[in-house]
Amino acid sequence: MGYDYDVISIGCGPAGISVGGLGGAMGLKTLVVDMRPRSGGECMNSGCIPSKAYLRQGEIMRHVKEHIPEEMWDSIIRHPVTEPLQEDLTEIAGKKMDKMLKGVEKRWNTRAEFIDRHTLRLLPANHGEDVNSSYQLCSDEGEIVTAQRIFIGVGTAPYIPDCHGLRDIEHGRLLTNEEIFHVEPPFSVAVIGGGVISMELSEALCSLDCETTILHRSADFRVGKGVPQAVSDLMEARLVEKGVRVIHPCKMLQWTQDPETHSLECSLADGQVIKCDYVLVACGRTPVADSLNLKAAGVTTNARGYIEVDKYLRTKAKNIYAPGDANGNFLLSHAAMHQGTSLSLSLSLSVSVSLSLSLSLSLSLSLSTPLIPTQPCTRGIKYLEFTQTFESYGATYAQGLKDGQISIYCSPLGKIYGALVVGVHSGECINELSLMMTWGMRMHKLAFRQGSFPTVGWLTGRVGQLWLQHYAEMPLCQKMAGAVFRHGKTIAMCAGVAVAAAAATVILV
Ligand SMILES: Cc1cc2nc3c(=O)[nH]c(=O)nc-3n(C[C@H](O)[C@H](O)[C@H](O)COP(=O)(O)OP(=O)(O)OC[C@H]3O[C@@H](n4cnc5c(N)ncnc54)[C@H](O)[C@@H]3O)c2cc1C
Repeated sequence: MGYDYDVISIGCGPAGISVGGLGGAMGLKTLVVDMRPRSGGECMNSGCIPSKAYLRQGEIMRHVKEHIPEEMWDSIIRHPVTEPLQEDLTEIAGKKMDKMLKGVEKRWNTRAEFIDRHTLRLLPANHGEDVNSSYQLCSDEGEIVTAQRIFIGVGTAPYIPDCHGLRDIEHGRLLTNEEIFHVEPPFSVAVIGGGVISMELSEALCSLDCETTILHRSADFRVGKGVPQAVSDLMEARLVEKGVRVIHPCKMLQWTQDPETHSLECSLADGQVIKCDYVLVACGRTPVADSLNLKAAGVTTNARGYIEVDKYLRTKAKNIYAPGDANGNFLLSHAAMHQGTSLSLSLSLSVSVSLSLSLSLSLSLSLSTPLIPTQPCTRGIKYLEFTQTFESYGATYAQGLKDGQISIYCSPLGKIYGALVVGVHSGECINELSLMMTWGMRMHKLAFRQGSFPTVGWLTGRVGQLWLQHYAEMPLCQKMAGAVFRHGKTIAMCAGVAVAAAAATVILV
């Protein structure tokens, strides 16, 4: 049976772009469909990229604020931040993404749903303005398209908790990561949530001069699975130092909105009342798969509502795959890209690459500055830990970047299981470790690599040297080293004879 397309990707975020881009590059007839008016998904439009842009802008603003007389601050005319950011994002979507999707057909502002496992109905989504009118939109009545293979890269949506009055707040005052980058600071904001997204956005907004209060229901912040509590505590301490008001554990009782001024109030169980212009909800994600009519295609979801996949990312329908956040395994862009690229390659080359929904994928998480945690991948495994702190390194110490550390978790023979990198540039430092883990390189390679000095990344090599040092300091090793140093020739000769004898025995036997 002939299909309209070889490949269709529903969703054009990191997962969908990787699938679609590679499919198109390899000459497959490929279509990508997205409800947004442009490519990039959450990552580019309302996640990783704009949040880092805000953090950078905030850092600059904080630097200026700290270095001018206090009385000058209020008279400074600030450049807007939202408009230039949105212009940049449009530029990236139009130029950069276009290159990645060369030869691929696109439908923006278009929602897809299944009719059967090879057939989709495309409907107008009216999600926003079309940024590039040369792209084709689907017709108002909908369009039927078929494909041999279909990829579901639909990501997730922000989760809005059920708290009295919260969902009644008028749209525009209740914000999520989808809206926050369109509201020009400064303003006052209550941020609900105690995970990385809440911490990252709170840091950025506070630095952009917004009066920021975090409301978190638990006693502790949690920046990621497996990240030591001490790291979360350190991040919290830095947020407070920067001026973020943190209230936890707290129970929100009631949200109300003034009908005239539109400003908001939240009463807490301990009697406090938080007043703010906006509330930003950043307390987790929720799956969006139920809008896809999955039943018609025979695709199932798990108890959490995410699409059920095997370790090859296959759904219950054998021609349909679900890379990225849609499968709920790692809600991270680099994991989505990795899964999309590997899937596209393995299917086109007809090789079964196990996509190892494994620990190593969760290695790097570059979410916040200046403290960026990565997840140690050591669950249930016996390991050695080697740590170098930023405080003990001249370069970071002298630059005032003392908060941070690089920890590597490995086997006694140097197999790297995981790493935790905290501090400035940690998102960059983790790349080297990720490469090493992917290709099974051991600690001795790190110890002998020449790094650029005095960069933060140089410290990773220093951790390799700590591993070496650990063995060098063992009494047996010290004895051997001393003997070889003093009686090197004799020992070398004895060793040579022993090896030759062993080899001869093996050959003769
Ligand atoms: C504030 C914030 C900061 C973040 N920072 C980082 C970071 O620093 N590093 C990191 O690794 N991750 C980060 N993330 C997470 C990252 O954004 C996601 O993990 C990533 O975008 C997931 O990619 P995806 O392709 O699976 O889905 P998405 O990027 O969510 O893309 C899915 C796309 O599918 C479309 N879609 C959904 N349903 C349909 C349908 N029925 N029809 C057509 N289209 C549909 C959506 O419109 C969307 O564009 C951050 C997230 C947030 C919110």
